[in-house]
Amino acid sequence: MESTVASKLEALSKLQSIDSQLDEIKRVRGDLPEEVQDLEDEIEGYEVRVRKFDDEVAALNDAIAQRRQAIKDSEGLIRKYEDQQQNVRNNREYDAITKEIELQKLEIQISEKKIKEAHYQIEQKNSEIEETKHRLEERRKDLDNKQKELEQIVAESQEEEKKLEEERQEAASVVEDRLLSAYSRIRKNVRNGLAVVTVKRDACGGCFNTVPPQRQADIAAQKKIIVCEHCGRILSGVELRAY
Ligand SMILES: [Zn+2]
Repeated sequence: MESTVASKLEALSKLQSIDSQLDEIKRVRGDLPEEVQDLEDEIEGYEVRVRKFDDEVAALNDAIAQRRQAIKDSEGLIRKYEDQQQNVRNNREYDAITKEIELQKLEIQISEKKIKEAHYQIEQKNSEIEETKHRLEERRKDLDNKQKELEQIVAESQEEEKKLEEERQEAASVVEDRLLSAYSRIRKNVRNGLAVVTVKRDACGGCFNTVPPQRQADIAAQKKIIVCEHCGRILSGVELRAY
């Protein structure tokens, strides 16, 4: 059976009433869900930063270990060259070995300098890690508080929300798809979430622009679905004026 315009408008009005109640629940929750999400993102950012610093410190420690090994190797070579110097046959051989020893001493100096630099960098990184961890700790406390606050507010309205969601599904199921998508589109485009309004005091209940008498008569007749020519909201009926 084809449903009448009147029954379509009634179904839409019911849907609007349920959605407005759900909007109110969300309004009470306010920015909390978003704030919680922002804090979670911020915390994740700090955690990534700490891991990155940790990796960098580990790489610097590896470099230090390599340099230390290189120093040991150079020292071993120097001892070997000094032994060889005891048994040289001429000055030319002696000088050549002296040059090798000097070269290894230079290598040791370079390694010592690099180790010193790496230690300094590690110190810098560690203080950055400390600072980041401190901020991380603070943000975790903030998150904990906000989550508790949100949980409490959600708990207070959870039952009502669940009931409304069920009612909404039922109310939406009787609205034809084309009309339902128009309703959703209007709701998304208007600030107060009202897609279905009545004419009150000769004005659109959504944007408060005047609705001319003939148009009001058409709306009241419910022969077709009429939208406000100013804001596009569906006008479901005309509220009678109290004279
Ligand atoms: Zn309007």
